[in-house]
Amino acid sequence: NTLFLLTDEELSILKDSISSANRIVITAHKSPDGDAVGSTLAWKHYLAALGKDAVVVLPDAAPDFLHWLPQYNTIITYDKHAEDVKKVVNDADLLFCLDYNELSRTEEMQPVIEGSKAKRIVVDHHVGPKIPSILTVSRPAASSTSELVFRLMSQLTGTQDISHDAAVCVYCGMMTDTGGFTFNSTNPDIYLIISELLRKNIDKDVIYNKVFHNYSANALRFRAHIIQDKLRLVETLHASYYTVTKSEMKEYHFIKGDLEGVVNIPLMLKGHKLSISLREDRDRPNFILVSLRSSCGFHCRKMAEEFFNGGGHEDAAGGKLYCSIEEAEKTALRAILAYKSQLEA
Ligand code: 5GP
Ligand code: MN
Repeated sequence: NTLFLLTDEELSILKDSISSANRIVITAHKSPDGDAVGSTLAWKHYLAALGKDAVVVLPDAAPDFLHWLPQYNTIITYDKHAEDVKKVVNDADLLFCLDYNELSRTEEMQPVIEGSKAKRIVVDHHVGPKIPSILTVSRPAASSTSELVFRLMSQLTGTQDISHDAAVCVYCGMMTDTGGFTFNSTNPDIYLIISELLRKNIDKDVIYNKVFHNYSANALRFRAHIIQDKLRLVETLHASYYTVTKSEMKEYHFIKGDLEGVVNIPLMLKGHKLSISLREDRDRPNFILVSLRSSCGFHCRKMAEEFFNGGGHEDAAGGKLYCSIEEAEKTALRAILAYKSQLEA
């Protein structure tokens, strides 16, 4: 079966860990996206079908457009409920790390995870897993962690234990991490999986609408402002960057998620290779959140590591800078020029 991921030995580690666990906690990275929330909730639904209650714990909340996911309201977030999170993580005997490859991706929650004696199992699709665990299922070629979670469910007990709600969460994660199946989604198995999910009676069009057609008027105009007034093109190098400041966020009544995906828009330019977003953090001064996207044969992950204290996937990476927005712009320009020969080709 091409969907299966684990060797017999790995499968028995996973099976035994689940059956012997009494308190299971499922975690994902800070600023959770559709794949982080989709994969963790899908795994929770699946474990429930096996008779195991599991708690999903996240460093902070997901954007509003994900709050409709089944059981989203059971998630405990560390930024608002630190004591509750500390208690469940400390009491856990099995902890799943989904959709992240380094404990530092959980930011403020990292010491809590490190302090727990729970056995860890990692399921992820980022390059280079670095989390100590009893089992690491790392598949950088996969579309999403949600896809991996589906494959694990299939291998563990077959599709009969995948509920409608689990299917909704898996689909949401796969769909968001592939931009609605427009990138990173050429593996034919993906469509085999979607076919199974549709048999669970998910409505993929409704899911798409809930996630992607969810803007407020302010959010739509904020995007227009960025593209119209803020986008700096380095046309000869097929690259661009833009900045977003706190005062603009105020002006457009920014809420979490409003700028999701904006960094992809410049890639709509014919032949465009690199798009960089530089955004001031609302709470931390001199803290710039960086997002990078690449296309047309250029890969931005290394640039994220070298210039922006980050990393990620080959064509979707991120990081942070500890400086003013003006200095961040200079860093972006330096990064673009450092890759001149690859970008101008
Ligand atoms: P986004 O631009 O959507 O925030 O992040 C895109 C991808 O970049 C994420 O899936 C994640 O893999 C990676 N990423 C974002 N921020 C960081 C960071 O600070 N450090 C690392 N190592 N990866 C990041
Ligand atoms: Mn992911």
